[in-house]
Amino acid sequence: MTSRVLLPPANLAVIGGGQLGRMFLQAAQRMGYTAGVLSEVEDGPGAQVANWSVVAQPDDLSGLKALASRAQGITVEFENVSAPALRWLARNRLVRPGWKTVWVSQNRLREKTFFASHGLPLAPWKPVRTKDDLEPALRALGLPLILKTAASGYDGKGQVRVDRDIDLAPAFRELREVPCVAEGWVEFACEVSVVVVRGADAKAVAYPVGLNHHERHILDSTTMPAPVGPIVSQEARNLALAVAEALETVGVLTVEFFLTSSGQLMINEMAPRPHNSGHLTIEANVASQFEQQVRALCGLPLGGTDLVQPAAMVNLLGDLWSGGEPLWDVALGSDPGVKLHLYGKRGAVPGRKMGHLTVLDPDPRQALDRALAARARLVRR
Ligand code: ATP
Ligand code: MG
Repeated sequence: MTSRVLLPPANLAVIGGGQLGRMFLQAAQRMGYTAGVLSEVEDGPGAQVANWSVVAQPDDLSGLKALASRAQGITVEFENVSAPALRWLARNRLVRPGWKTVWVSQNRLREKTFFASHGLPLAPWKPVRTKDDLEPALRALGLPLILKTAASGYDGKGQVRVDRDIDLAPAFRELREVPCVAEGWVEFACEVSVVVVRGADAKAVAYPVGLNHHERHILDSTTMPAPVGPIVSQEARNLALAVAEALETVGVLTVEFFLTSSGQLMINEMAPRPHNSGHLTIEANVASQFEQQVRALCGLPLGGTDLVQPAAMVNLLGDLWSGGEPLWDVALGSDPGVKLHLYGKRGAVPGRKMGHLTVLDPDPRQALDRALAARARLVRR
């Protein structure tokens, strides 16, 4: 089963119909595959471009059966897919990443325990399963600390920063006293991430390191390559490859790091899939992270990860729509190098990822400046 290769026009599917699912579908179609989606909504970003759709919740059994009846290879766009469902699908279909990878990544307690058991460097952390764990966590980590729900957080949701000891118990209550991890606050110099891909033959490749800038806990921009020097860069890529190897995952995997001013890398978290910080690989690298997701799923040789040119990506959040439709013509007209990606989402809510811009430039800082300038021109002043 695992040595099987799916060649075009085989039928592939992705569980999850957001922007990541959409970009997987587009990559699969470009390579000649037929590509479907399991989507919660009929006209989401994925379903809009898919060759076929099943409208169901990601763990709905009849939906998964409908998916398996058509698709020979199945992947996921997010980690909050039921692991038993993936295991069930894998009995008759190629499913990549496998349920174990997804199961470890969908819970911060499991993820951190896993990293620690493999000797991987982490920000200081303690498990907080009940109120009784708060006091020991505080003593071990000091202040400020950050409480994060173990399950189902994204874009900083399910996180509370705690600056005073009297705020700790209320913060845990605010998170409804669900299992959490407490993390020591890291005064990082910057944040970086590495996208890696591990193929069905266990060969793995890493992309260059991306420099990430967050606003309000949401990714705002990525610049590749990150200006971190060859030693840190090699170490970050090796650590990300080590994570993929330890998980024995097949597919794309992203590792996010904090980098301290003394050059120390600490793993923040991982995602067993393409990542927002890898969107610029669509234009900037030999093979995009989505093409690699297709290749790994299908058992094909992996593509090249080298940068064709340095690049930067800036996210377009729903906030940009507050004064009406952004001025696409103005932004595109002022710099012919700007590449626009919109995900087809209806309803621009502040903080919602609606699209992104990518710019390639021989100088990565210039690439970022140009992408930021184009974004600034989207709104009327
Ligand atoms: P996403 O899935 O979108 O990456 P998330 O909700 O899983 O986000 P994290 O990656 O844990 O959240 O945190 C989001 C951001 O908040 C980080 O990228 C970082 O900027 C900040 N942050 C999180 N934990 C810490 C910490 N311990 N110290 C300092 N900053 C932190
Ligand atoms: Mg994160």
